[in-house]
Amino acid sequence: MALPGVPRGRITGMGTGMGLGVKIRAGALLLLREEARTALPQECCGFLAGSGGVITVVLPACNFLASPTSFEIAPQELFRLVREIRAQKLEHLGIYHSHPAGGNFPSPRDIQRAFYPQLAYFILSPLRDAANPVRAFSIRESRVTELTIETVQG
Ligand SMILES: [Zn+2]
Repeated sequence: MALPGVPRGRITGMGTGMGLGVKIRAGALLLLREEARTALPQECCGFLAGSGGVITVVLPACNFLASPTSFEIAPQELFRLVREIRAQKLEHLGIYHSHPAGGNFPSPRDIQRAFYPQLAYFILSPLRDAANPVRAFSIRESRVTELTIETVQG
């Protein structure tokens, strides 16, 4: 399914041969970690938006599946979020969800259902001892590339 108004990507470093990165404001990063914890035992999910290629806004969504091992955003909510991003004149930059059991790497289902190669896929681990509680990936034609997360203060 193609969403209207999803812009071309802002994943930095694309095609330069250097590591790929994504920029996110420190406050948004904290909010994401909180989302993963409060959604327990279920997976949390939502969109990430911002401007100038920097993620500044977290738009939580309802996990339609109410599941600890998968997530789905209902179509009506998808469109509501896209409209909200457009109304705020923001760029849609990413999608996030959590893996309550840890292991925050894209699952086969995540890869299969990654329809937006231009977006950064953030996967969170709510576990206290997680080595990397927030990881981000580019998923293009089933190829997964981890993105370096650059935290922007403010
Ligand atoms: Zn997943």
